[in-house]
Amino acid sequence: MSLTFKIKYQIYKLISELYGFNLSKQKKGLRILMYHSVGSPVEGDTYNIYNIEPELFKLHLEMMNKLNLNIIALTKKNLSLAESGVVLTFDDGFANNFETAMPLLNSYNIPFAVFVTTNNVKKKEKFFLSKKQIIELSCNENIKIGSHAMNHVYLESLDKSSLYNELSGSKKYLEDLIGKEIDALSYPNGSVNVRVRDICEEIGYKIGLTSWPNINSHNQDPLLLSRNAIWSIDTTKILKQKIEGKWDWMRYRYTDPRFKD
Ligand SMILES: [Zn+2]
Repeated sequence: MSLTFKIKYQIYKLISELYGFNLSKQKKGLRILMYHSVGSPVEGDTYNIYNIEPELFKLHLEMMNKLNLNIIALTKKNLSLAESGVVLTFDDGFANNFETAMPLLNSYNIPFAVFVTTNNVKKKEKFFLSKKQIIELSCNENIKIGSHAMNHVYLESLDKSSLYNELSGSKKYLEDLIGKEIDALSYPNGSVNVRVRDICEEIGYKIGLTSWPNINSHNQDPLLLSRNAIWSIDTTKILKQKIEGKWDWMRYRYTDPRFKD
């Protein structure tokens, strides 16, 4: 990890302590956590924050289990019914989600969702899920498969036809593979605006996950749900802070996707 990021992280921690100190009481809502790889390198991960060591990941689960959090599955029904809860998601579709994370999550009976970048599967890229692994994941009722588009590009930058291609191509690929409807999408690189959101709806997606950190209230647009990124350096203490909303100030660093067009 670069020194620059280490310094930044120390500053983030400090701001979170101060911001958290002022949070009068815990907000109700749905807290969605975003993990990536659990034990293998992530291409283009400049700060080395998207690959958590399995030992630390295990500690995260142990802590969440101890806190007795209401960890729920990412379904349309849960989104409208659950007053408060935590949802676990994994982006990109790493094979270690199947090989390493799944056995640990299953041991705690924790539901989770995996968002697959389909061309990595098609091209049989190293470190990514195989077709067989995706099918096996999808057979577990605690596990949801979602789309992370086809090529992990910035969706906001695409013209209409390429956007359709990315969104419906990945949906169809996964539906043909697992024989179930794919109704959820995680926007690659957190790149989403109102135009992208509307096309997702048109194509048939019901749930869309951004990377804009916040808790989700009941009336939140299900196609623009907020999520908190969990990094490889986050101790259990930091994870707890992120769940409590102490790191939500980070949203002020980016534009709210609802106001991007
Ligand atoms: Zn991604």
